[in-house]
Amino acid sequence: MIVCENPSAIQTKLAPIYCTDSSIGFVPTMGALHDGHASLVRRSASENEFTAVSIFVNPTQFGEGEDLDKYPRTLERDLEICKKMGATHVFTPLVSDIYPEGRSTYEIQMGLRNMDKILCGARRPGHFNGVLQVVSKLFNIVRPHRAYFGEKDFQQLSILRRLAFELFFPIEVVGCPIIRESDGLAMSSRNRYLNEEERKQALFLSRCLNRAREMARPGLEISQLHEMVQKELHHFPLIRLDYFDVRRSADLGAVEVLRPEDEPRGFMAAFCGTTRLIDNLALL
Ligand code: AMP
Repeated sequence: MIVCENPSAIQTKLAPIYCTDSSIGFVPTMGALHDGHASLVRRSASENEFTAVSIFVNPTQFGEGEDLDKYPRTLERDLEICKKMGATHVFTPLVSDIYPEGRSTYEIQMGLRNMDKILCGARRPGHFNGVLQVVSKLFNIVRPHRAYFGEKDFQQLSILRRLAFELFFPIEVVGCPIIRESDGLAMSSRNRYLNEEERKQALFLSRCLNRAREMARPGLEISQLHEMVQKELHHFPLIRLDYFDVRRSADLGAVEVLRPEDEPRGFMAAFCGTTRLIDNLALL
């Protein structure tokens, strides 16, 4: 496994591959890898001759007062996981490699059909713009044939599909299922911030989403799901709900009533103590 720290080094290593029939899969991450990330790397390694993983805590997608400074960094262990899962290249740039002129705050203006204004986009202004900046830079550096993203960040996945489509990146964006702990909590690098009691209450998200799926039937009004979530909240004193919403899978459009053709999906974000967690689930 080749580890490169700067863009020109990884480009030099990958260059001979482009003129062969071999494909390159790419898994962008912010490190602190867990089984969710590992599943993406394994999937890429099973579908491509080469798999590049990037490990980069991207400052432009963090808002003020968010956890940029304390975001977990576990590079040694991450490299072991990458190797074990079949990565051939790991890219670990510095902030100054990706943003050589300082943290540029340019806006990528593109037809996102409001997908960046709702759900997490409404709560974390600028977040998805930071994601668009870094992923478009990483796409141009690595030039993969396929890029793998988790449905854990379903809104991000939807926006990045648009990015590839709108900007004609010749890259297939592949969505991968959410990997969960055995009790249902979606795996996240941020779960390690949780203390024992918070870890128990973090089940609020998967519990509500599973309840919503149990209740789901064509014609059900979304307001009934909101009522259920409000009732559940009473049992979880450490939880502060950020949002619960139901959206169409294809374009994240709003829905009032469940209809199978919308492939409705429940989305949730909540603070557990000071840690913000997200989750989502297909309802029908
Ligand atoms: P992050 O390091 O949080 O930026 O995540 C890097 C990639 O891993 C993103 O595409 C995430 O959606 C994906 N990912 C994170 N957690 C999970 C999970 N529990 N299951 C599947 N994919 C995940």
